[in-house]
Amino acid sequence: METAGKAKGQGLKLAAMIGGATALLAVLFLFAPEEYSFYPRCLLHTLTGLQCPGCGGLRAAHQLLHGNVAAAFHYNPLLVLLSPLLAAFVIAAIGRETTGRTVPRLFKHPLWIWVLVGLLIAYGITRNLPLLRSGG
Ligand SMILES: [Zn+2]
Repeated sequence: METAGKAKGQGLKLAAMIGGATALLAVLFLFAPEEYSFYPRCLLHTLTGLQCPGCGGLRAAHQLLHGNVAAAFHYNPLLVLLSPLLAAFVIAAIGRETTGRTVPRLFKHPLWIWVLVGLLIAYGITRNLPLLRSGG
């Protein structure tokens, strides 16, 4: 009985997460970030004019949702390059939650976290170099 209740709770949690993510993606699809002011603004960019690794991410995601890969790449190239991995992680997590089976994890080793952190720092620095400025 307790196991069935726990499974039901997990199912509700998963449904809420998928529903919430779908609603957020629908808002992002329907309302272009450059046209609506209800989207959050980057504090670093507002205060310094510099671009953090996430700057342009909402605009890039909006363009990706519309199938405009080149426009998305203009706003945030790293997001476009990492989006297949991000999608794979989300699909694997959903599969793990719905089936209860473990899905092989490609980047299980903790070193990958440091690779990602290093990549974000290097990207954050290089995108602010005058010759490479993009998106914004
Ligand atoms: Zn930013």
